[in-house]
Order: sequence, then structure tokens, then C-alpha cells
Amino acid sequence: MDLIQESVDALGVDKKYAERLEHPERVIEFTFPLRKDDGDVIFLKGFRSQYNSALGPCKGGIRFHENVDRDEVVLLSKLMTFKNSLAGLPYGGGKGGVQFNPKQFSKTEIERVSKSYVRNLFKFIGPDVDIPAPDVNTNAEVMAWMVDEYNSLAGRKEFASFTGKPVDFNGLKGRGEATGRGAYFIMMSVFKRHNISKKAGIAIQGFGNVGMNLARILHENGYKVVAVSDSKGGIYNSDGLDIPALIEFKRSRKPVQEFEKGDKVSNERLLELDCDTLVPAALDNQIRRDNADKIKAKYVFEAANNPITPEADQILAENGVEVLPDILVNCGGVSASYLEWVQNREGNVYDYDAVVDKLKVVMDRAFSRVLSEKTDKISYREAAYRASIRRLAAALQHQF
Ligand code: GLU
Repeated sequence: MDLIQESVDALGVDKKYAERLEHPERVIEFTFPLRKDDGDVIFLKGFRSQYNSALGPCKGGIRFHENVDRDEVVLLSKLMTFKNSLAGLPYGGGKGGVQFNPKQFSKTEIERVSKSYVRNLFKFIGPDVDIPAPDVNTNAEVMAWMVDEYNSLAGRKEFASFTGKPVDFNGLKGRGEATGRGAYFIMMSVFKRHNISKKAGIAIQGFGNVGMNLARILHENGYKVVAVSDSKGGIYNSDGLDIPALIEFKRSRKPVQEFEKGDKVSNERLLELDCDTLVPAALDNQIRRDNADKIKAKYVFEAANNPITPEADQILAENGVEVLPDILVNCGGVSASYLEWVQNREGNVYDYDAVVDKLKVVMDRAFSRVLSEKTDKISYREAAYRASIRRLAAALQHQF
């Protein structure tokens, strides 16, 4: 059965809430021209889904990827609705994107795409309406272009209209690493609860913003990261990888597979390694019906959004694998975004240590809300959805 239906039934709340949560409130879809550096003009598709705003303005990232379409942004904005509720943030869920592969375009072209995206959406976004942030293939620089365009159109400085901005452009210290750091806090709580030792091996799929920061923080704290990968493939060392050396290697734009101190492993094989903990921190649909049975890890932490399909989730549960869901594990990113939004609205500047402390409070609170619903009969994902929907239902009751 559907997770929302199941949670609504278990909580005994009005079924109308489930119906409301099955549909987005508003989806904006548009096409816009991009003048390329060589003078040629092409047309790109842009999207923004504002899934649910019962808890506050919509909040969620913007991705630049050739697979972006209406269905994907709607699904991801639905996930943001549950994530923001679970994290206890005063936000609804949103997500957007542009359907193109930025790796095939120049920096000036990407800047023009970013600014056009904002011009098309200007009437529908803002600090009290919908606040975008980075997601797959977008970063602080993209947010800087977007907020600059937004401010020009608004005729005033509304830096709280976007989060994940550069630190020097009213961004938040610690926002860049926040998704990785948040995942680390959840891992610590789970390791403590299940008595997992520091010697247990951890494999991380993905070495971008989330995977790299998570690997670094785990390594700094004495944990053993045995495998990591990027889109070209992975590297494995059962004694633990030298993560600082690997980060330096990757910064010189080399694929991690070429790193000498480890054995090459494909992205597929990395998921199937014989280690205690697996962290998919890249794209969606990585663990599916066809490979779920091959997962040997006992704990899987979803640092990416939607890395496990619902069929695979079922197979993992039958095999006794504990899955910590994306709406809990990766909510550190949006939680730090919230701190950035508050900082901008207060006209304040938070220091890095304060951000880390505040982020830990949010992550610990989200985990204890999951635990308050958790029993031996239900998974961490089911418990997380119940906690999230409990809060959403309390807000929805004032709407109808
Ligand atoms: N894109 C991130 C996510 O999926 C962050 C969203 C935000 O900061 O608004 O959670």
C-alpha cells in the first residue's frame, strides 16, 4: 500500500489529508530561449512544482539535468513536503529544474539559463512564497546569478528569496557541507542505537557535494570509508581509503577510479560490496528490483533523494536490511537552508560553529521524532512518514 495512505490509516486521521497529499497544489511549466555563445538559439523546458504549502512557503532545490520533466519535479517536490515537515521546518515542499545537460554548455550560457529561469518564475516565487536552492548540477554560483536576477526584478535586496548562495553573497557558512554533515549526525545516532563500531566499513556511492563531505567528516572522526565512486566508477580498499588524499586527487579533476591506493570497482559492484553500511549519495533509482537481493550491507542510509525504488525497498526489508530514509538522512541541506533564510531575514551573520550546533539540534530532533513512531513492526521509513504526516495533518486541518 501507498506510504501516505498507510500512515493516514495508522494515525487515524481524516482520509481527505491523504487525498490532498496525493496531488501538487501548483505546477509551473514553461519554455524559454537560450542564445548560445555561437549565436544559435535553442529552446529549453523549465519546471517548478509547488507541492504543498500547508506548513509555510514551498522550499526545495532546482536541478539542471537532461532527465528533468514534469513527473520528476512533482515527485521530488512531494518528497520535499515530507522532508520539511519531518525536519520541523516552517516550509512546504517544492522542486524545480531545467531539462538540459549543463556539462555541454559554457559558464556564460549556464548563467543565461539561470537568469531566464528566474524571469519566467518571478511572479510565483519569493521569501514568503517559494524559496529555491541548489540541487543536482546547480551550486552556490547558480544561486548567486538567480538571486541577482530576482533582486533586479524586485527592485530591492531580497536575499532570502534563494538559499545555498555563496558565503560572500549573503550565504551561510557551513551550508555547502550541510547535507553531508546532517547525514553524518543521523549515522552517529543510528550507530549508537545499534552498537555499530568505528571499525565497520562504509561504502559511499557518489563523491559530489554530499558524498565527498560525508566521507571527509566520517574520516575526520575516525570512521572507515572503504569505497567511494563518481559517475565514472569507484575505488575500494578494505583497510579504509585515504579520504583527504582522494579529495585532493578529485579536485584536480581526475576520476576517483584512477586513484592508486585501492582497487577499481564499478558503480553497480560498489552497491553490492560486503560491508556493514552503504550510503547511496548520488542519483535516484540505484537500488532496484534487479539488484536489491545482492545488497550485503546491513544498514543503508539514503543520502540521495529516492535512491531505492519501492519494490527494492520491500526486498531489502524482507532481507533484514535496515534502511534510513532520504527524508531523514538528507534533510540537513534544507535545514541549513532554513538557517540561511532566517539569517537573511534577521540581517544577521552566523558563524560556522553556531551553524553546526544548530544543525545538530534539528537533525537530533528529526531522529527522535522518527523514534517516537518506530516499533519493531514498522520500518524507519514508515516511522518517518508517520511523524511527518502527523505534523502535516495538524496543519491541514485548518485548511478544510
Ligand atoms: N536540494 C536539497 C534537497 O533535496 C536542498 C533543498 C533546499 O535547501 O531548499 O533537500
